[in-house]
Amino acid sequence: MEKAKKRKIGIISSIILTLLIIFGVVSASALAENNSKHVDTWERVKRLGKIRWGVKADTKLFGLMDTKTGQPEGFDVDIAKALTVQLSKQSGVPMQADFTIVTSNTRIQLLKNANIDGFIATATITPEREKVIDFSNSYFKAGQSILVKKGSGIKSIKDLNNSKSTIIGVVGSNSVINVKKFAPKAKVLALGDYGQAMAALKAGQGQALTTDNGILYGLATENPGYTVVGGTFTSEPYGVAFDNNQPEMVKQTNKALKAIIANGTYNKLIRKWFRGVPGLDWRSLEK
Ligand code: GLU
Repeated sequence: MEKAKKRKIGIISSIILTLLIIFGVVSASALAENNSKHVDTWERVKRLGKIRWGVKADTKLFGLMDTKTGQPEGFDVDIAKALTVQLSKQSGVPMQADFTIVTSNTRIQLLKNANIDGFIATATITPEREKVIDFSNSYFKAGQSILVKKGSGIKSIKDLNNSKSTIIGVVGSNSVINVKKFAPKAKVLALGDYGQAMAALKAGQGQALTTDNGILYGLATENPGYTVVGGTFTSEPYGVAFDNNQPEMVKQTNKALKAIIANGTYNKLIRKWFRGVPGLDWRSLEK
């Protein structure tokens, strides 16, 4: 081969090599970036000595901001605290519970972005969600229902299945999806959180607010002019959520859930939050 030709081949192959190296480095760093966000959650919480839990702040009884303490309070928040104590015992590493406020609409994204390690936020275990995140065993059984103004004459979801009715809900909750199956003719108004949804119901922007019965009973205790009617029309088992592919975190959490049920903590929290809530059969919630 002549010299010039050889040189040309040499230059071309070194360009290809450089490109391969650059591409390799770039894809490796992209992978590293991804992995740093989605490392093993169980390893991460032990290393950091804390679990960053996503909890609600708009959902009385489960996660509601206490304006005096500036801290979220509720059953889900207490379950997060109890699980953190138990997970510390199981790992031998003392861990603290750290809280980040989530809504129905932000909880999965915050988990995906690794802003939180897990969430306990009235989230139903559904097959769609299981495609993108992991869930523990169910820790609470709820069911979807409706909240209406007392004396409205609305007795069940069936009474709302007409084009004149508007049903209010919250974006990111599966309640606004489910309700379309049970009242396909009604309009659905989905708002940012349960505070806004309740304000819209009071302002007459719809005839009913729909979500899980426990959440509705919580709203009813603060709004005595409103009542939960018609019983439940879906089954909503709540799960503790983690990013997908976190078998160890899920396994440890299931073990911790069993432990807090066995040592009486779970039933103590059921009584603390649900005993005496009008209309709610709190005894059926005990495990
Ligand atoms: N449990 C239902 C859900 O996961 C409704 C409650 C909520 O909005 O969090 O979507």
